[in-house]
Amino acid sequence: MNKNHLDRRHALPIAGEDHARLTIDLGALASNWRSMSRRSGAARTAAVLKANAYGIGLESAARTLFAAGARDFFVASPAEGATLRPIVPDGRIFVLSGMWAGSERLFFENDLVPVISSEEQLAIFMAAIADRSDHPCALQIDTGMNRLGLTVADATALATDPARPASFSPVLVMSHLACADDPAHSMNRTQLDLFRLATAAFDGIDASLANSAGIFLGEDYHFDLTRPGISLYGGAAVNDVPNPMKPVVTAEARILLVRDANAGETVSYGASAVLMRDTRIAIAAIGYADGYLRSLSGTGVPLRQTGLSGASGFLHGQRVPVIGRITMDLSHFDVTDLPKGAVRAGDFIELFGPNIAIEDVARASGTIDYELLTSLGARYHRNYVEAER
Ligand SMILES: *Cc1c(COP(=O)(O)O)cnc(C)c1O
Repeated sequence: MNKNHLDRRHALPIAGEDHARLTIDLGALASNWRSMSRRSGAARTAAVLKANAYGIGLESAARTLFAAGARDFFVASPAEGATLRPIVPDGRIFVLSGMWAGSERLFFENDLVPVISSEEQLAIFMAAIADRSDHPCALQIDTGMNRLGLTVADATALATDPARPASFSPVLVMSHLACADDPAHSMNRTQLDLFRLATAAFDGIDASLANSAGIFLGEDYHFDLTRPGISLYGGAAVNDVPNPMKPVVTAEARILLVRDANAGETVSYGASAVLMRDTRIAIAAIGYADGYLRSLSGTGVPLRQTGLSGASGFLHGQRVPVIGRITMDLSHFDVTDLPKGAVRAGDFIELFGPNIAIEDVARASGTIDYELLTSLGARYHRNYVEAER
């Protein structure tokens, strides 16, 4: 390796061809899973990997979580399950959307466990396994979301139905909490009581109720298997308390140029930001096509009328606010308060990560970290930092 090459490698954080990059800390991901596993007490701890592992990348996430000790995985669709199967050959993969007519083959070929959520899905499943010895399934019970799942009454009737086929023997009975991010919400207790009632009818079958926030509600909610998602990826599961998880994802974008504008001039589409002072503006190569949502704009979107300020970036040790509307590929940041000459074309600005919590950025746009993560576009260069073994 000649000296020139070494220098280029050294300069990588600044020079290089990436216009925006994600750094994904797989060590933090593994650490977050172990932390949720400890919080789950005696219950086994699964990992929810739907939507490309909340946007961070299914393959690296699954490999890391399996190495950390996870053996139960949840995805949304059978196609996601088929993608996951070769990555975790010995894992158990639950498919939350259940089985529909035409999807059976994916389940059998990839050894996926459908989570059955309606009488209709149950009929499709029973027909599909009629000429097979057996295939595992899970049963979802709706305790208050009014989304997926049999009603408690229907589930209890099914459990005690003498005509129930002997081949119907779910390996898991589960439900999903609607309000666990708000520990004081009365809905939590209501759903817990309903779930207990329903699971009593399925004696001896593993039960699962808690997502990330549900795990923080305490032992009553843990049952046999917990299902954390967002907490593994560093998101804030519970509202209005400090987030104990390690940040996993850092998003950064290249500064393309720095320009000076005068008080009274306007910025970006709609000319909605009128400069109150002479302003130095850094233009970053990031926009709503990258999932840097338009609702993060400094001005000129309806949310800003509610009094929330827009997002900030982090650059040279300081927070710098977005000004004007975020556009498809580009955003404006006000860097006037940084020392003159500090910001240079080619620098990276942090959008979220260790210095700017992802949940704060989400709040600035009126959404949640789940949506920010799963909206990350395809244009980022993804850089995976391996977990230490
Ligand atoms: C997405 C999902 C989870 C994970 O929820 P988090 O809030 O991300 O921890 C758990 N269970 C079900 C049924 C889900 O759909």
